[in-house]
Amino acid sequence: MKITVFGTGYVGLVTGTCLADVGHDVLCVDIDEDKIEGLKNGIIPIYEPGLEPMVVRNHKEGRLNFTTDAETAVKHGTLQFIAVGTPPDEDGSADLQYVLAVAKTIGQHMDGYKVIIDKSTVPVGTADKVNIAIAGVLAERDYQTDYAVCSNPEFLKEGAAIEDFSKPSRIVVGTDSEQVCELMHECYGPYNRNHDKLIFMDVRAAELTKYAANAMLATKISFMNEMSQLAEHLNVDVEQVRLGIGSDPRIGYQFIYPGCGYGGSCFPKDVQALARTADSAGYDAQLLKAVEAVNYRQKETLFAKLQRAFDGDLAGKTIALWGLSFKPNTDDMRAAPSRVLMESLWEAGAKVIAYDPEAMNETHRIYGKRDDLTLVGTREIAAEGADALVICTEWKAFRAVDFSWLKEKLNFPVIVDGRNLYNPEEVKKAGLMYYAVGRGDSL
Ligand code: NAD
Repeated sequence: MKITVFGTGYVGLVTGTCLADVGHDVLCVDIDEDKIEGLKNGIIPIYEPGLEPMVVRNHKEGRLNFTTDAETAVKHGTLQFIAVGTPPDEDGSADLQYVLAVAKTIGQHMDGYKVIIDKSTVPVGTADKVNIAIAGVLAERDYQTDYAVCSNPEFLKEGAAIEDFSKPSRIVVGTDSEQVCELMHECYGPYNRNHDKLIFMDVRAAELTKYAANAMLATKISFMNEMSQLAEHLNVDVEQVRLGIGSDPRIGYQFIYPGCGYGGSCFPKDVQALARTADSAGYDAQLLKAVEAVNYRQKETLFAKLQRAFDGDLAGKTIALWGLSFKPNTDDMRAAPSRVLMESLWEAGAKVIAYDPEAMNETHRIYGKRDDLTLVGTREIAAEGADALVICTEWKAFRAVDFSWLKEKLNFPVIVDGRNLYNPEEVKKAGLMYYAVGRGDSL
């Protein structure tokens, strides 16, 4: 099938590449000329495991191409995926300017039947807005053609995006058109051989399904973080509680790790946007607002623990950070807990020395060169001579540590573990003070 994908970010590039990999003829379009030029030369703008060789191979074999030319792009595909960003607006609602700009571009160049597919995460009612935007441009052009707008939200996780796209648990499509159902079956057929994963529903239900899924996952995290705070007040080890509740199949072990708050480009903005959608529909979504508030507070906990360890005096201290990305296996720094910590440390007059396996370029891009931030090439160099160590991201490479070595290297024997990676007994045996999340008296 001939497919066009607007946007070559985490979702667009993975979507385009995976669809090309199963044999479709895909043209990816972006307004960012550097990105497109790079992609044509095999330079991948993001870190996503397995993506680079797949892009290079499919591009070489001619099934995956890149352009900034919107007209060529619109003319190419019968299916037009919109996978551009929907960042939060000032009030937290989803900013649809990029989605609607693409809709207008499609209307501008449409030359026959097209299916316009909202893959971006968009609020209920967006398909109608896309429809109106296209109809408006077609009317201006005085051109008539059939087209359909459907919703096909994406559920991939950064860090496992290819696996998630290629082996989806479900493919949600919101449409009332028979023709769209057939075309979507054809598009996703290669992922649908084992059993039918396509779930067709109303457009508005599909739009809400994506937000509901993310809000549910964020709720699990905030719930567990709330338990971790309570555990600290009650001198209980929340990790024992986690094991105790996760064994109940109705609860399960997934997404109940206490930590330093959820980040990334999706959960924070989607929970907020859903709460704003509820507000504008006249409903006060109290649970969503609490999920957001608990997460906000949890992100401040690493700094609070450091302050406690140093009696409130962090000025002039150098704090080592292991991990900067919002989760392992990505370089994405959007809404990462490390950013809240670093910015609080700088405000308190402390310096940061940090190592992350993938997110250092991104950190440099965001913060530029500054005297109170040093990015180094290994976790060992980061720890050497620092006044305390903080674990911000649970990268695999941080899981096994020689604590006696660490005790020798750190100026003060303090570890703040935002991911509960270590056994408190082992850390304490080496003579280190251990501040973890919700682990009672791990001090
Ligand atoms: P991103 O910011 O990484 O990429 C967006 C891309 O769109 C950029 O390259 C930008 O240059 C391009 N773009 C903007 N306007 C354009 C235009 N008019 N024409 C062509 N390209 C244009 O965003 P992302 O993380 O891929 O997210 C995209 C959407 O998917 C968002 O709505 C997001 O909520 C949703 N989503 C993201 C994830 C994730 O894990 N990142 C998962 C599921 C859904």
